[in-house]
Amino acid sequence: MSATTAMKKPRPATDEQKDLLDRLLGERVHYLTPESVELLKAKANTRDMSAVIKSLLRQPYKPKPVVPTGVSVEPGVYKKDGEIYEIKRSGSGVLRVKRIAVVAGKVRRYAALLRPSRFTPADRITEDDATGFGKEYGICCMCFRLLTDLQSIRDGIGPVCKKKHFGR
Ligand SMILES: [Zn+2]
Repeated sequence: MSATTAMKKPRPATDEQKDLLDRLLGERVHYLTPESVELLKAKANTRDMSAVIKSLLRQPYKPKPVVPTGVSVEPGVYKKDGEIYEIKRSGSGVLRVKRIAVVAGKVRRYAALLRPSRFTPADRITEDDATGFGKEYGICCMCFRLLTDLQSIRDGIGPVCKKKHFGR
């Protein structure tokens, strides 16, 4: 390398370097402030930028962001798009959704196409819908047991569920 080349004023950092810098700032652990990043992009020459990029490449990756799973719902009975769903927590703590249908007088639980994350607390079954179901099928919509006593059949809901879920 001749003296003149060595003395040559370094060129400003290239767009490719700046793009790489942005990508690395996004994925690596670093302590650069937004101000110093701005300054770097505005003033750094190719060599300085290259040094920063190299040091960033030695940095560990940022921990993976926790993917938001939406509003978490509690286990219970839900009604969505006219269908009744039961959300239960499995032994391993995972929420499972079943679609409820009454076939030949018996409650059936079918695999649901909706994931738990599709439900919100607003989808919880209302007392009117629950008792409507109870009156129609003679089955409690909250625990899916057959309604046996006269009062429960009239109410469309069992006394325990009525108190537990609707506070009466
Ligand atoms: Zn019940």
